[in-house]
Amino acid sequence: MKTLRLLLGDQLNINHSWFDESSKNVTYVMMEIKPETEYVLHHAQKVLAIFSAMRSFAETIEEHGHQVVYFKFDDPENQHSFNNNLKRLIEGEKYKRFEYQEPDEYRLDKQLSDFCRELSIDTRMVSSEHFFTNRKDVETFFKGKKSWVMEYFYRDMRRKHHVLMDGGKPAGAAWNFDKSNRNKLPKNHQVPEPLAFGLPDKELPEKLKDWGISTFGSDKPENFTWPSTREQSLQLLDSFIEHLLPDFGTYQDAMHTDYWNIYHSRLSFSMNTKMLSPKEVVKRVEEAYHKSGQTNIAQAEGFTRQILGWREFMRGVYWAHMPQYGKKNFFNHQRKLPEFYWSGKTKMQCMKSAIGQSLDYAYAHHIQRLMVTGNFALLNETHPDEVDRWYLGVYIDAFEWVEMPNTRGMSQFADGGIVATKPYVSSANYINKMSNYCKSCPYDHKKTTGENACPFNSLFWNFLDKNKDMLSKNRRMNFLVKNWEKKSPESREEVLKQANFYQDNVDKL
Ligand SMILES: Cc1cc2nc3c(=O)[nH]c(=O)nc-3n(C[C@H](O)[C@H](O)[C@H](O)COP(=O)(O)OP(=O)(O)OC[C@H]3O[C@@H](n4cnc5c(N)ncnc54)[C@H](O)[C@@H]3O)c2cc1C
Ligand code: SF4
Repeated sequence: MKTLRLLLGDQLNINHSWFDESSKNVTYVMMEIKPETEYVLHHAQKVLAIFSAMRSFAETIEEHGHQVVYFKFDDPENQHSFNNNLKRLIEGEKYKRFEYQEPDEYRLDKQLSDFCRELSIDTRMVSSEHFFTNRKDVETFFKGKKSWVMEYFYRDMRRKHHVLMDGGKPAGAAWNFDKSNRNKLPKNHQVPEPLAFGLPDKELPEKLKDWGISTFGSDKPENFTWPSTREQSLQLLDSFIEHLLPDFGTYQDAMHTDYWNIYHSRLSFSMNTKMLSPKEVVKRVEEAYHKSGQTNIAQAEGFTRQILGWREFMRGVYWAHMPQYGKKNFFNHQRKLPEFYWSGKTKMQCMKSAIGQSLDYAYAHHIQRLMVTGNFALLNETHPDEVDRWYLGVYIDAFEWVEMPNTRGMSQFADGGIVATKPYVSSANYINKMSNYCKSCPYDHKKTTGENACPFNSLFWNFLDKNKDMLSKNRRMNFLVKNWEKKSPESREEVLKQANFYQDNVDKL
């Protein structure tokens, strides 16, 4: 039957069973369309990387003998709408069937299922054959449970998929090696240079401008490091296993002014666009663990947990709670995101580093996202819509299914505790413990009030004060509320005054 198959920009999985055989009756369609570049203001590198990877993928499947219709952005035939481009093709070429892979985003899932309802030909949605779990597996796993603890899901995944298992027991005789992980970078420690790939079409940044695509962040070729093909993604994986995995867990939470990725893999873009499968990444890490001397269990487990645990768990949370999840605002925060999130212009060294590298490279690692930029946004009582918009735009790996549960859920606690067991807030203490940021900061990490007092400190106590009823019921937070209440009324008032001053003058921080 003459069939049209749609491939979205994050469905670049050459190992999908669709590509097992080529057929004259099947045509694939891919399109660069304006609405996908502007549902949020994106980092230039995100648009460049996705368009480049899509173009390379179209060439690859054509080389494998498949027929492809590819609408480039400036193609005169391109109507910049999934529905219009598809309708014209279906009617013009008399396709009898339309097929697509399950979209990861609720928005596109709805749009395509509504579109199929309008069609009078056969339609079919198939699996993307990418994840370990189905959309609703996490919800089923936690059915009837009061809280969704990721750890239980992760252990079940390890058992089910026989990952890092020693018979029925976890390899290394423990499920979790967090205690041996998470150190600060030692003085004079040299981190390997990040492996970088250039843009395949050096003129693409200029073309985006000519086409009127608005973006932010650096589009300088020397700052673009992202893979555009599966081959490059595999090189990134090889390089991670050889050079970074052996220290991944140890320095997982470390932050440093001189290094923007430390020992992190930067594989999220390749995985989220499906150039790499999470299964092959997890397998390679396990193989490295079994090859004696290449890495130890603490590193292998720490990394595996992120993919087999967190990545699948977050996707499950998303599909269990959308579309309501996108409206959640547990603390009813209403403030705007400070201007410096878009410019990087702030005196706070931790924020300057984390935001600056995000603007330069479209990347920050997990702890920078959670405990620096996310922490500040929460302490400053920012509306979760504002926070979501920034995270969805700025990061190379930001696709709503994984961005939203991380931002709205884990980092802003706007879901009231579906993802996180407590709000991830901290004073300067944590940032100073895990980084060298405070050393070169004009603010004093030890001061809570007075001139040059670190804004994180008074804002932290202010947050605790405002939410003390709720936080005192949380086992992991109530000692902090008690510490706050032990302070004299005068000193509490002084701290709150400082916090209010900082909130009123946030753009000057
Ligand atoms: C506020 C906030 C927003 C985030 N937004 C995104 C996002 O839009 N897209 C995204 O892929 N990740 C997001 N994360 C999770 C995590 O920060 C990134 O996956 C990670 O930094 C990507 O870099 P990496 O590939 O070097 O990761 P590594 O540290 O090398 O980890 C390996 C892989 O584990 C997976 N992983 C790690 N942590 C998580 C997590 N919490 N949730 C899901 N997968 C995880 C990723 O696929 C990652 O590539 C966010 C985290 C926070 C706190
Ligand atoms: S002193 Fe405060 S603002 Fe400055 S780097 Fe440390 S935590 Fe950040």
